[in-house]
Amino acid sequence: MSTDDSSPYRESPLLHGLHNRWSQAESIEDFQRNLAAVHARIAATCQRVGREPASVRLLPVSKTKSETSLRLAHAAGCQWFGENKPQEAYRKWEAMQELNDVRWSVIGHLQTNKAKLVARFASEFQALDSLRVAEALERRLQIEGRTLDVFVQVNTSGEASKFGLPPDEVAAFLRRLPAFSALRVRGLMTLAVFSGEAERVRDCFVRLRNLRDQLRQDAPAGASLNELSMGMSGDFQIAIEEGATVVRVGQAIFGARATPDSHYWPAATGTGPEQ
Ligand SMILES: *Cc1c(COP(=O)(O)O)cnc(C)c1O
Repeated sequence: MSTDDSSPYRESPLLHGLHNRWSQAESIEDFQRNLAAVHARIAATCQRVGREPASVRLLPVSKTKSETSLRLAHAAGCQWFGENKPQEAYRKWEAMQELNDVRWSVIGHLQTNKAKLVARFASEFQALDSLRVAEALERRLQIEGRTLDVFVQVNTSGEASKFGLPPDEVAAFLRRLPAFSALRVRGLMTLAVFSGEAERVRDCFVRLRNLRDQLRQDAPAGASLNELSMGMSGDFQIAIEEGATVVRVGQAIFGARATPDSHYWPAATGTGPEQ
């Protein structure tokens, strides 16, 4: 499944063409430089569209990267880490527990049998897309005496290969969530289509924002739908232009990943990466 041909980057030469330029960050200075560059691009984009830079949270995505690399990133100022796989994230959290200012966001699809891991350490889960997962998380969070910020993942690209709810199912799904008192609904999350065509990418972000605006009007009590998590290394500026409040940036901070992304996102057959 993880052949180069199935990498989503294959078909996105324009937006993701910077891929090769993302050299590995290997020192605190490398991380400081990369973070400063990303923050500068966030600020410049915000300025262009009349937004406050503080209205955009940068979530550094550390999946596949080593504990050493995460510790350097932390020393350079990263206090959030976004991880895609619950077990990998849990391992890193365990190893780095003494860094008590670090918060963990799980941004990848969750199987119910991994809910107990996430309930133990994560501050945020961005890929909620089923009631079964909501139930499993709720049960485990109650046991842990914890709460969890959640984002509902929406499939805005229409690609069968992506996780997330179809846009027209989100309203009904949100109405069920107040029953889960340990889940704090913060907003919506999406992955744009992997395309070199900026306008097709932008369409996905616009779709998510419009959906949020529409849903916000009758959001259930206690559910705030303020957050829009959208945009990655190759497209976060477009996402900010369209209203992103969280951008999930990995390679532009940490350097290119060795593992093809097809390992992290389900192949076109719809079979997700099992762990
Ligand atoms: C890996 C990943 C990202 C970050 O992608 P980069 O290209 O490294 O910026 C963002 N969101 C999700 C859900 C991811 O899995």
